[in-house]
Amino acid sequence: MTLIYLDNNATTKTAPEVLEAMFPYFEEQYGNPSSIYEFAKKSNHAVKNARAVLKDFINAADEKEIIFTSCGSESANTAIRGVLNMNKNKRHIITTKVEHPCVLNLYKTLEKQGYKVDYIGVNSNGELDLAELEQAVNYDTALVSVMHANNETGVIFPIEKISEIIKSKNKETKFFVDAVQTAGKIPIDVQACGIDLLSVSGHKFHAPKGIGVLYVNSKTAITPLIIGGHQERGLRAGTENVPYIAGLAKAAELASDGLKYEATEVKRLRDKLESGILRNIYNSRLNTAVTNRVPNTTNIGFEYIEGELILLHLSDSGICASSGSACTSGSLEPSHVLRAMNVPFTSIHGSIRFSLSRYTTEKEIDTVIEVMPKIIDKIRTLSPYQDELEALKKLKSSNYQG
Ligand code: PLP
Repeated sequence: MTLIYLDNNATTKTAPEVLEAMFPYFEEQYGNPSSIYEFAKKSNHAVKNARAVLKDFINAADEKEIIFTSCGSESANTAIRGVLNMNKNKRHIITTKVEHPCVLNLYKTLEKQGYKVDYIGVNSNGELDLAELEQAVNYDTALVSVMHANNETGVIFPIEKISEIIKSKNKETKFFVDAVQTAGKIPIDVQACGIDLLSVSGHKFHAPKGIGVLYVNSKTAITPLIIGGHQERGLRAGTENVPYIAGLAKAAELASDGLKYEATEVKRLRDKLESGILRNIYNSRLNTAVTNRVPNTTNIGFEYIEGELILLHLSDSGICASSGSACTSGSLEPSHVLRAMNVPFTSIHGSIRFSLSRYTTEKEIDTVIEVMPKIIDKIRTLSPYQDELEALKKLKSSNYQG
């Protein structure tokens, strides 16, 4: 059985070019980049080069604004705690109801420590309520934290517009963007979008797990989360992970070169998969905006069945997808993102996210389009909701919106 991997928002395969770029720093060039002898120069150069590549990747103004971390979660935690520590007199934060748990759970903790957090809602397409956001910003707002695109629906939030709104209401408020799901899928421009802090994670765009980036613009002061040596300008202690940093730089270069392919070919395959499923399976619904989405993601709900059952059947056919976000699947709680979108209870449990990558092939998509109706039919014959399913089948063959 061949593997069909459509869970690239959870993690991606490390690109062979990335592995190749990493190997020398394990085998031959293993020097500590902080050491002054000649042998360590190549390690030091690899880190410097990677900083320049990552600066260009997000269009930062200065290489000093790039801090290497271990993952997206560490970058977000450093950004949020770091900014708040520097502005202790301000106690108000604004975020969204659909952020990743690495952000949401931190805000829950901060609420217990006396911060007031406003959670902005989304509509049924997963799009942010900008009027609610505008109303929420006040003189006491230390931080606004909004993801660039949602990991479950792929919906892109209008970061530039949000930055304008924030700065028009309070120039001192800092703006943090979790760009973990957009890096490598669509362009990121921190300067054009007025972003103060931004997080990226390598394993979402074909670098290995265990490497991330935090961007902090030169006008924003933060405290470090990890205190120790002077690495990363004292903002993130720990000997630099040179092989992974070199790999991340290679992944960023490949991703920059591949943005056009993402926007055309990956999107074409995603759209083919989406319309193929919605057309062939009655009572399936799109749980996301039709446009205004990262090109690789779709989220489809199947009424009156359990997403976990669909995943198990897909797995039997060698197909990997996800129900809800990778971090929350495994729990029987419906996804907080789909709940915020008011997805009807009849399909919220039966929602599946497919996320493609540049390695996804037409043949794989054709196989999934062929296999899915058989799986859904099989599961539905076992459903206790036979009368409801029969009634819905008669009412409409599909409510395809795209
Ligand atoms: N933010 C978003 C939107 C994500 O999707 C994820 C991972 O799924 C993270 C942050 C956390 O990234 P990491 O796994 O690198 O900590």
